[in-house]
Amino acid sequence: MTSSDLTTGAEAPPDTGLTRQEASACLEKYGYNQLPTPPMPGVLELFARQFLSPFIYILMIASGISFALGQNPSGVFILIVLLINALIGTVQEYSAQKAAAALKQMMKGTAHVLRDGQIITVDVEEVVPGDTVLLSSGDKVPADIRLLSASSLAVDESMLTGESLAVAKNADTHSEDSTPLTERADQCFAGSIITHGRGRGRVIATASETQLGKIAQGVTGKTSAEPPLMIRIRKFTYQVTFGILAAIAALACLMLLDGSYSLEEMVLMTIGLAVSVIPEGLPAALTVALAIGMSRMARLNVIIRKLVAVEALGSCTLICSDKTGTLTVNELTIRKVMLPDGRQFDVTGEGVAPGGEIQGLESTDPDTLRELCVAGVLANESHLDYSGGEWVSQGDIVDIAFLVMAKKLGMSISELRTRQEQIALIPYESEKAYSGVVNRIGDQTLIYAKGSPEKMLAMCDRMSTTDGATAIDKAALEAQFNELASRGYRIIALARKTSQPGDHDMTDMVFLGMVAMIDPLRHEAFEAIEKCRAGGIEVAMITGDHPATAKSIALELGLCDADATVVTGPMLEEASTRGQEAVDQLTRQARVFARIEPARKAQIVDSFMRDGHFVAVTGDGVNDAPAMRQAHAGIAMGKRGTDVAKETADLIVTDDNFSSIVAGIEQGRVVYNNIRKVIGLLVATGFSAILLFFFCVLAGLPMPMIAVQLLWLNLVANGFQDVALAFEPKEGGELSVKPRSPHEPVFDKHIIEHVLVVGSWMGLVAFLNFQWTFEQTQNLEEARNLTLMLMVLFGNIHALNSRSEFRSLFRIPLLRNPFLMLAVPLAQLAHIGAMYTPGLSDVLQIQPISLQEWLQLLGFALSLLVVEELHKVLIRRRRARAT
Ligand code: ADP
Ligand code: MG
Repeated sequence: MTSSDLTTGAEAPPDTGLTRQEASACLEKYGYNQLPTPPMPGVLELFARQFLSPFIYILMIASGISFALGQNPSGVFILIVLLINALIGTVQEYSAQKAAAALKQMMKGTAHVLRDGQIITVDVEEVVPGDTVLLSSGDKVPADIRLLSASSLAVDESMLTGESLAVAKNADTHSEDSTPLTERADQCFAGSIITHGRGRGRVIATASETQLGKIAQGVTGKTSAEPPLMIRIRKFTYQVTFGILAAIAALACLMLLDGSYSLEEMVLMTIGLAVSVIPEGLPAALTVALAIGMSRMARLNVIIRKLVAVEALGSCTLICSDKTGTLTVNELTIRKVMLPDGRQFDVTGEGVAPGGEIQGLESTDPDTLRELCVAGVLANESHLDYSGGEWVSQGDIVDIAFLVMAKKLGMSISELRTRQEQIALIPYESEKAYSGVVNRIGDQTLIYAKGSPEKMLAMCDRMSTTDGATAIDKAALEAQFNELASRGYRIIALARKTSQPGDHDMTDMVFLGMVAMIDPLRHEAFEAIEKCRAGGIEVAMITGDHPATAKSIALELGLCDADATVVTGPMLEEASTRGQEAVDQLTRQARVFARIEPARKAQIVDSFMRDGHFVAVTGDGVNDAPAMRQAHAGIAMGKRGTDVAKETADLIVTDDNFSSIVAGIEQGRVVYNNIRKVIGLLVATGFSAILLFFFCVLAGLPMPMIAVQLLWLNLVANGFQDVALAFEPKEGGELSVKPRSPHEPVFDKHIIEHVLVVGSWMGLVAFLNFQWTFEQTQNLEEARNLTLMLMVLFGNIHALNSRSEFRSLFRIPLLRNPFLMLAVPLAQLAHIGAMYTPGLSDVLQIQPISLQEWLQLLGFALSLLVVEELHKVLIRRRRARAT
């Protein structure tokens, strides 16, 4: 629809918005406000994609060669391996895709609209043409909007126009359909970002009809870039493949030199070995590990927006956290009111329910107190209504606290707000630390303001007392608020003035007093900070609040000790004039930062990063975006956070709780460890097979397995166990080790050691077993039969061992990973079943074995358990020494 349709369509009076019926009629008529998204790849496409990997190409070539050589069973086997691999991959990717779609659903944007005269929050999709939308800094504009009113509104339209500077908007102009987009000052466009101020406007276009929709039609279908973790693992797999091929080539050369092997035997062996050793299951197992990690994190209230965050979280050495709402519960209650003459009143009651009272009122004249309350209610953008049997609040929690206090004084908010006509609003933005309003009654102009005591004192030259406005005693007031701030209260001061029409200056005001608010600590935060400390993760608090308030809270949370210095915005500013080194010196020791404007956060993060920290930073406002982008991991607050913060973030914490961040870090480490476990499993079994062949060639023995046996081994020893291992839950103790260095490769020295120890043992024992049985029986088929059985047993025991890199197998409850508990016995049974299946057993050249052979093989296989347990004892000792 176009803007001209609107006059004939739903036209609602601007003050009440659409009715709910009108809104649903519009939704019916114009559809959901969403741009068409490219369809998700279907099952067939996913299946086809499974074949796009260098592993698979090599396997396909191997299959082709087998058929060419007339070795049909081998050729068919390789195809079966490919098929099973592709099936597992498809199923897993399909469910990962579904999980991702569900996560996306959880991150849906919301908009504030006026319906039936009430401000309500709806999903962006449900915004309809004709709706009245409220815009506030940090919002992403939900649809194309014509402004009805605006105060200090500035919008970043770079995604539409490419212009990176924010443009000012106002409701006074009227642009036509022919006006160029960049000059439509009275319109805001879907997808642009409110960087400053407030606005209210009527929706003129939604979905594909918006300017964004018109552009977007050309660009849907572009795929997102691959996350760095995947790129690194992919690189690693290429290296592994290359290494394997080199080893196999070396083996082939040895066989050539030896001269006792036929060419055909050699080619088949090479193929079988390549297939068996190539970790073709790795991509699917990784997809699973990451997908499981993401859904587990979602259950812990952490939503991963960018996959890199899973990895980044695990390496993080320092969390820079907000105070309000993250470390505290974000429920501000005014506890004390202080008048400029020193009188103090206690306020009772909790939260938004206006039960409670201001104590000690009876004995004094309440006028000065009322005046303070009026300022608090008017320099205020929030709403508090009684509806549906409970108090419903909307807006900034500081603002709401003032409305609650006014109720306790028995004042009518709506009466106060309608008595005066609002001329201008100075909305609260955290970099300003105050808010204000210019009102008119008759020909009188009244200005009200509230904000940090420092800001308010600077605006005032008089203070209100029972004798009227007298000279201000700044020293006494400062002493008063410093004392309260050091007890953890957040202090807000209030001021007013009567001025001439046209004079909107916030100077020469009258100081009305202060209120002290309390925001209870989150009790989980204390424990979470403890956990961080144990895991070598430091925590810093960055707040816009007063240094004394910040320190008192930091002390209570155990973030700093009593003689720690609090670094403030002005201190940082002074230091930065002396250069980077001075700033670093300041930040190096400090963990509490107060009176920090959001724009300065990036500077602190930067300094920490120079100090070698791997930094995660939380944010909620528009101005937090630079710091979040700067840091290694940006964390947005799901409830409190603005659209901008959420879109910049690598992850979102849906309950705004610091302890969820810590739970997320823990889970991030679990995912990373699982990836390592899968890699360790696959590479070690491959290594053992190569080693077995090397030993045989060196000893001048025949091939220990034929090609089809190698292929079969690949299937029953790895085929399902790798994916099942990706389901491993948290082992415990993930947070008690130091963060992994971000430069450390996935395939690090610990995995290499593991592969060498375990792989060598399996290879060596299998070789000795083969040599011994061959010499005893002189029956090659029998020796191979036993070797294959031993390798299958090894593979399964190794899969169980891989559940932890350091913890004894006997200390991990088996049922914690039901998938692995299913995969291991099934794989073993499949092999035993094959021995008894005519046809299959002929192709595989295997047959049932005697009880005595069984016992002997079990004994050999269990030796792996002993070796691995001993190795783990060594690793545990090393870890204990390191911490
Ligand atoms: P925090 O880091 O705790 O979120 P903010 O940046 O939100 O701190 O607030 C900084 C300061 O701004 C507060 O200490 C307070 O003095 C002032 N302030 C906060 N909210 C409001 C508001 N709604 N109106 C006026 N002043 C406010
Ligand atoms: Mg805040």
